[in-house]
Amino acid sequence: MPSRSGRAAASFGIASSAFAAADAGRAALRPREADVAQALERRIAALRERGGDCARYGSVLERSYRLGQLRLRPFMWRVGSDLASGESKPSGEMTLAREIDALNVGVRTLDDVVASIEHEAAHIAFDITRSNGGEERAVATVRECGGAD
Ligand SMILES: [Zn+2]
Repeated sequence: MPSRSGRAAASFGIASSAFAAADAGRAALRPREADVAQALERRIAALRERGGDCARYGSVLERSYRLGQLRLRPFMWRVGSDLASGESKPSGEMTLAREIDALNVGVRTLDDVVASIEHEAAHIAFDITRSNGGEERAVATVRECGGAD
């Protein structure tokens, strides 16, 4: 499968730190992204309610979302020999794939997309790298907090 990395990333999220601006920001999202925004807001609330580690990575997720640091790309992209569905930086910037590829060989569900975002938030919140648990730990963290994977 050819790389999709040349495709422009779609801007996603609410480019305002004001929580009161959420409704306006959500309205500004393209229809295709509004479902992700709604699902994220539900998960942010659920994670806050669960408390502990769930609330901790949930607050990282919420911050990225509110600050407009989440970017949705149309498709997964190549990183070496792997296809990536999400990546993040310690600053809170995250890039997520909406679908697997342009030919619709595989479709990512809304749950898949939200789980990817939670996964990246867990990496950031607990500084999870290969040396302290890696992918298994990030996946387990989201699973323990009731996230899909
Ligand atoms: Zn990971």
